[in-house]
Amino acid sequence: MGLLFVESLPGPKVFKCKHCGVDSASPDAIVSKEFRGRHGRAYLFDSVVNVSFGPNEDRILMTGMHIVNDIYCSCCQRLLGWRYLIT
Ligand SMILES: [Zn+2]
Repeated sequence: MGLLFVESLPGPKVFKCKHCGVDSASPDAIVSKEFRGRHGRAYLFDSVVNVSFGPNEDRILMTGMHIVNDIYCSCCQRLLGWRYLIT
C-alpha cells in the first residue's frame, strides 16, 4: 500500500468530505449552484482535489443522456458526486 497524498486548500470556507473531513473544493471553483442531484441540491465545480473516479457510464439526467463518472473521496473512498465527461 502506498502513501496517501492529500492536498490542502487555502481559506476558511473550503468544501470538505462530510465523512472524513479532507479538503475537496474551494468556493472559488463553484461554477453553478443551480444543479440538483439524486439527493437534492448540488453544486457544479470546475476543479476538485483529493478525489478518484469511477468508470465511465451513460446516465440519463434531467438534461438528457450524458457520459459521466462518479467521484469518490481519495481518502475514505465514499461517494462525493459525479462529473460530466465532455466528448
Ligand atoms: Zn472522505
